[in-house]
Amino acid sequence: MTEPRSRGLRRLTSVISLVRPYAGRFVLATIFLVLGSGIGLVYPKAVQWAVDRGLADGNLALLDQVALGLVVAFLAQSIFTWLRHYHMSWLGERAVADLRRRVIEHLVRLPPAWFHERRTGELVGRVAGDVTILEGVVGSELSMALRNLVQLVGGVALLAFTDPWLTLAMLAVVPPLTIGMMLFGRRIRAMSKGLQDAAADANGRVQEVLGAITTVQAFRREAAESSRYGDAVEHVFSRALRLARWRATFMATSSLGGFLAIGIVIWLGGRRVAAGELTGGALTAFLLYTTIVAVALASLTSLWGSLQRAAGATERLQEIVDTVPDVASPPSPASFPDEPRRIAFEGVRFAYPARPDAEVLAGIDLRIEPGETVALVGPSGAGKTTLTALVPRFYDVTEGRVTVGGVDVRTLALEELRARIALVPQDPVLFSGSIAENIAYGRPDATRAEIEAAAKKAHANGFVSAFPNGYETLCGERGVQLSGGQRQRIAIARAILADPQILILDEATSSLDAESEALVQEALTALMKGRTTLVIAHRLSTVREADRIVVLQDGRVAEVGRHGELLANDGVYKRLVEHQLAA
Ligand code: ADP
Repeated sequence: MTEPRSRGLRRLTSVISLVRPYAGRFVLATIFLVLGSGIGLVYPKAVQWAVDRGLADGNLALLDQVALGLVVAFLAQSIFTWLRHYHMSWLGERAVADLRRRVIEHLVRLPPAWFHERRTGELVGRVAGDVTILEGVVGSELSMALRNLVQLVGGVALLAFTDPWLTLAMLAVVPPLTIGMMLFGRRIRAMSKGLQDAAADANGRVQEVLGAITTVQAFRREAAESSRYGDAVEHVFSRALRLARWRATFMATSSLGGFLAIGIVIWLGGRRVAAGELTGGALTAFLLYTTIVAVALASLTSLWGSLQRAAGATERLQEIVDTVPDVASPPSPASFPDEPRRIAFEGVRFAYPARPDAEVLAGIDLRIEPGETVALVGPSGAGKTTLTALVPRFYDVTEGRVTVGGVDVRTLALEELRARIALVPQDPVLFSGSIAENIAYGRPDATRAEIEAAAKKAHANGFVSAFPNGYETLCGERGVQLSGGQRQRIAIARAILADPQILILDEATSSLDAESEALVQEALTALMKGRTTLVIAHRLSTVREADRIVVLQDGRVAEVGRHGELLANDGVYKRLVEHQLAA
């Protein structure tokens, strides 16, 4: 309850909004809930009758009737409880499933820069954690809160009906006591958490010291470390004592409070009974309702905390769903150019959103003709990867423009643009699934014959066919482990099958064995035929065969030309060839 109420309520509405599409079922579940809780409010009245009419007048037949009535009522209540619980859980699970799907549907469409600003592991953990919190709350705690609310309101109403004056007196005592106790309890929980943290800190140091025991002994720090730990232990001890005092006070005062409240009601109520303004049965009923109200109030106070937690979780998830990707298709995309294989970078400047002041590309002008193979070379960090990432719009330029077929990529439909481009990364990732599925990743509708044809062109057919299960062999974490060269050939087959007009290749830096190397090279040559290729080159053989070599340095084009010309220049390229490019 540290939050301002209006914010708390707004967050609560955001939890409830998850259930909105299923309003019909929600109403139904609420009806069951009100009926079930309503019956729970009947029994003090029944007790009142039993006491006043049955016991006081010795009317045993009435007592039997009351008992029988109660059995029927509780049977009905158990049926309503079942229905309420089932439908409320249905709602909760459905809402959480919807949210899960919405979050992922949205998440996979966010641009890479969004992920760079976050740690993926943390993100996955957070999403999973938040969803789990919600699951518990929406599935059961929300319905508990509603039930308690019904009991609270109903209980107070029935109290007022039984004896308004006594109700006022009770309300002056019980809610402040209950809420005071809850706040007290919260403070104790916070202290106990602080204590655990302090203990964990002390233990962390111990772990460090024992892990580096030779360093400790070599520098003769044994005594210093022991006394340091000793201090920490004493600190924990004194905090534990303080906590124990608070706990003891809490236990003593909470039971005192409870009995005081009951005592006050009996005392005041007893006087009303003596004055003939209240019957003994009504007083009994009054006490029972007071208990119901106090329990409902206490549960609501503690449920409020979990509802807030759930609201916080929804808010964080909603934040993801509400993120508008800054790379997206324009509302009315331009028609796609006939010759998208002509690529141009025009006055391109770029800085990563995470580091806006560090310009990675500082004015690139480059035209690439249809079908041309351009090798990008340059020292590590020169901006080669960044430059290629601008074509499929993983990022958008900060200044200038990138065009395909003379049309600015930002005016094209993103789907269409990316459908024309294939990527062969440096270290290709295979997803868990069969090899066939992996090859068909960019074209899931491909036939087996097409998949095999692509694999043949990529020189992958040989090793794939050698597996007992062939193309159905599973790869990924639980499947076969393919070598680097094999994975590259699968990635090449994937690109061949996708049949793009533009190819972006990040050549592997890791060396393959000679045979693998030759096969990969041949596969690449087959892949590049007729396509415009941007290759981030790490091998001499690649640059030698390229139509043009573009040397990048510090985000600028330093040199452009063919291998022989550039060598003759005796510039950056020559030094790169001597020191960096693998023969
Ligand atoms: P290359 O491919 O030539 O080695 P990159 O294009 O990968 O170079 O990187 C160019 C520069 O951009 C480097 O200085 C790198 O630190 C920086 N950089 C790369 N990715 C990011 C990112 N996601 N956020 C911020 N800076 C980045």
